[in-house]
Amino acid sequence: MSMTVTGRFAPTPSGRLHLGNLLCALLAYLSARHADGRFLLRIEDLDAPRCPKRLCDAAIQDLTWLGITWDEPPLFQSERGEIYQRYARQLEQKGLLYPCFCTRAQLHAAAAPNRGDDNPVYAGTCAHLPPDEIAERIKTRRPAIRLRVPDETISIWDRHYGEYSEYMPRDCGDFIIRRSDGLFGYQLAVVVDDALSGVNEVVRGHDILASTPRQVYIQRMLGFDTPSYIHIPLLEDAEGRRLAKRDRDMDLTSLAKRFSREDILGMLAYSAGILKEERPAAMDELIDVFDWKNVKKEDIRLGRAIG
Ligand code: GLU
Repeated sequence: MSMTVTGRFAPTPSGRLHLGNLLCALLAYLSARHADGRFLLRIEDLDAPRCPKRLCDAAIQDLTWLGITWDEPPLFQSERGEIYQRYARQLEQKGLLYPCFCTRAQLHAAAAPNRGDDNPVYAGTCAHLPPDEIAERIKTRRPAIRLRVPDETISIWDRHYGEYSEYMPRDCGDFIIRRSDGLFGYQLAVVVDDALSGVNEVVRGHDILASTPRQVYIQRMLGFDTPSYIHIPLLEDAEGRRLAKRDRDMDLTSLAKRFSREDILGMLAYSAGILKEERPAAMDELIDVFDWKNVKKEDIRLGRAIG
């Protein structure tokens, strides 16, 4: 008996969603619905000041405008700190966590490691501080909390790109699961939320592939199943620049003035390789014809009409 697919889209609304985010939402949605599966929405507003309510609302409106539906009320990560705390405690009880007083800690944000995760591998400065030194330092500075990585290679299988491996001490290093300001990091939150929501298919941008071994490691440590992963190509504008949340002209408020929903769906589906020609298309048709085999692997450049 095959398992019901549960997919999800998990935007971080620190800006308006752009076409690249919408393409990701669309592919995640089509994949789940084509398999008669369930689909969930999770708003990754962990860093609440960077993701104000108006942007969370706008993300929900944009997805609704596009015709994407979800089967449960959306989750908001900003409301789930106690849940993350519970799972962090489990990691702590396994002796996997340690406080880190390094000042760069603030930089290793709870924010999603998108746009070219450039966090350097941690040198391990605070990995073995004696308890009395920790007690002393904690008086003047609130530490970030790091997770020790194993002396191991973790490999994941991406259904679109194949195998991806990291030798954890060299390619990843001990990483932050709680910032010094108390906010939980993306890596822990995403694993806990996907597992508790029963998500078994994760479709997301290729820029997050490099986070996946960390997430698989956390899943193992918490006894969760690993979902199937499909990372997707990123969208570039007509000049070959990766779209950013700052690109105003790429958000739906401006696009909807020039294009209908079917125009945008057709254009996204065509750019991704799902349609053979560029023409308007309805969501139901796309659900019908969707096939991962047709989705491009190289980054996708938008046509001049739109990009
Ligand atoms: N919130 C992340 C982002 O917007 C995506 C996380 C994920 O899909 O796992 O980049």
